[in-house]
Amino acid sequence: MNKIFSARVAGRWDPYHGKYRPYVLPEDELKCSLLEDRMDKVIACAGCGKPVKFGESFTSLEIHTESGFGFMVCPMCIDQEIERARDAEAMRQEEE
Ligand SMILES: [Zn+2]
Repeated sequence: MNKIFSARVAGRWDPYHGKYRPYVLPEDELKCSLLEDRMDKVIACAGCGKPVKFGESFTSLEIHTESGFGFMVCPMCIDQEIERARDAEAMRQEEE
């Protein structure tokens, strides 16, 4: 199947602008995931696409399905998301 047609699109929350933007999941053979029944199942991090074990991944604060479920991301990506959320919150408080 053509790769472009098989690409899955999620929504990515932009904490600075307070809205979702379309986001193509970084999938190849490994798929991004919301939930697995095995902790040792290897999935693709929804943020960077690197392989990560489900049991070592975190629910993304930014990358969500249309109905708002979070995809799983690696420890590095969740750190960056938390950082951005704090950053955006600090910017909002400065504006008030
Ligand atoms: Zn990642």
